[in-house]
Amino acid sequence: MPPEKESVAILLGNEAIARGAYEAGVAVATGYPGTPSTEVIEALAKMPDIWVQWSPNEKVALEVATGASFAGARALVAMKHVGLNVAADPLLTFCYMPVKGGTVIVSAGDPGMFSSQNEQDNRHYGCIARIPVLAPSDSQEAKDFTIAAFDISEHFSTPVILFTTTRLSHGRSAVSLGKRIKPSRTLEFVPRIQDFVMVPANARKRHPIVEQRLDALKEYAENCQFNKMELKDRDIGFVTGGIAYQYVKEAFPEASVLKLGLAYPLPKKLIADFASQVDRLFVVEEGDPFWEKEILAMGIDVIGQGLTGPAVFPRTGELSTDIVRRAVETHLGAKPPVEEEPRDALPLRPPTLCAGCPHRGVFYVLAKCRLNVTGDIGCYALGASPPFNSLHTCTCMGASIGEAMGLEKAMGTEFSRRTVAVIGDSTFLHSGIAPLIDVVYNRGTVTVVILDNGTTAMTGHQDNPASGRDARGKPAPRVDLEALVRACGVKDVSIADPYDLEGTEKAIREAVSREEPSVVITRRSCALTSGTAKPPVHYLSELCIECGNCFRIGCPALEKENKRPRVNETLCNGCYMCVQLCKSGALAEQEA
Ligand code: SF4
Ligand code: SF4
Repeated sequence: MPPEKESVAILLGNEAIARGAYEAGVAVATGYPGTPSTEVIEALAKMPDIWVQWSPNEKVALEVATGASFAGARALVAMKHVGLNVAADPLLTFCYMPVKGGTVIVSAGDPGMFSSQNEQDNRHYGCIARIPVLAPSDSQEAKDFTIAAFDISEHFSTPVILFTTTRLSHGRSAVSLGKRIKPSRTLEFVPRIQDFVMVPANARKRHPIVEQRLDALKEYAENCQFNKMELKDRDIGFVTGGIAYQYVKEAFPEASVLKLGLAYPLPKKLIADFASQVDRLFVVEEGDPFWEKEILAMGIDVIGQGLTGPAVFPRTGELSTDIVRRAVETHLGAKPPVEEEPRDALPLRPPTLCAGCPHRGVFYVLAKCRLNVTGDIGCYALGASPPFNSLHTCTCMGASIGEAMGLEKAMGTEFSRRTVAVIGDSTFLHSGIAPLIDVVYNRGTVTVVILDNGTTAMTGHQDNPASGRDARGKPAPRVDLEALVRACGVKDVSIADPYDLEGTEKAIREAVSREEPSVVITRRSCALTSGTAKPPVHYLSELCIECGNCFRIGCPALEKENKRPRVNETLCNGCYMCVQLCKSGALAEQEA
């Protein structure tokens, strides 16, 4: 239960956003897990008086929030940056509608791509949708901006994007806690066809209203309390915002700064005023030269990512205090400091599937069968790594099945006999169902392997419609994946246990041999959540013939000592897949 009285807590940026939504009286919170946004919904799920849910994908999540807003309820929807691509379809029409209940879209970017397939800068969505974007730079602002975002949303009748990046989402700082506002208005749905039915005749009338709203937001930006001018030394001025503001302040505490808390639309008069008061103007922004482009278009010279002059700041990856300091000093002619050797650096470890991960069995089989594999987003993307090297594409959520279909249509059905699409349970529900229907409808013969580990593992084990629990961990109706796949029109459906290598191989070989769509569901709980770990495998060195077969499963619990395995008993969870690979009996199961 969150404290109701005034107090201070050290919160993650994501927790602070959740707290802000709670205090703002949010009624409905929804999202799809995705690093670095996941903790927003997880934190809200611990709070009372709010409907909190994981949706099957971000589009659905935003549509649920939109519905709540139609009734006048405050609604929050959270997703990672690429999730907004999925939700872009409803967003770009919802932004034409008058917003009744404040609606805040948390979009968490991942500069540096710690766990993403690209590093897109979602401030652009504000520009495309003509809606405001707020960019907090610490946890206190994350809370305050969230509350303000609901107010702005209702005042200007617009959805609002709260834009964060990894360091803000996952960094902690002190936050003053306040009380939850009890919503005073009565929730009701009043049908307003001209406002809520975006057929062309109505949408045409709404578009000029959206443009007028943007003009009003531009005026608001000039005096917005979140755009702050800090005038100090006039030699250098920085236009910055978000987490980059912290880097600038740390690197150049005496410089003048214009902090853009409202990242879009820009306060042009304020920027011109600031620019006129400093000798040199730098724009420090993580991601694209978004502000740089707008300021250059105003006819003001700026030093930034090099849209006109030299590129001083990088356009890819995360910024840091060090990067900002060095970039500015180098530009001003200072000698770059000698690189220091990092002290006590942690050894680099390549990412790998966990010991006992059921996906290992599937990728071992796919590698053994030398199949072409179209892949998807999830832990199993690590199937592309050695020793398997058996995941050959990975584009976005749900792309594996459509890509396998495209390969078949281009290369012929014989190629399809040597190809499978792999997709996780959560990802299949997110966006794998429609492409599977496409395969059936357009007479494809694709084989799909659904790696069902009973959770959304990659983002930290969130539940999904097939896991049997809801966002608060309470029992929930469970989607029957087998029945769902059959309902899509797939007749050839089989279930395999990925710990049973022979059985899994048989199921996959049979499935790909068929000249009709087929689905193999490989079912085994994630090794980290199953709670059924068996005793570590037993190694009988006298029987070992040093054939190296056991290493083909790539398990980190089997360390290589010369040509022999050494079992790391702390890591081994007793899946016994390696036992099946050792033909001389040197690896054996142990009695519990
Ligand atoms: S039984 Fe073998 S494959 Fe399974 S976790 Fe232990 S060492 Fe790894
Ligand atoms: S598979 Fe068996 S025999 Fe071969 S190296 Fe591993 S333990 Fe030794």
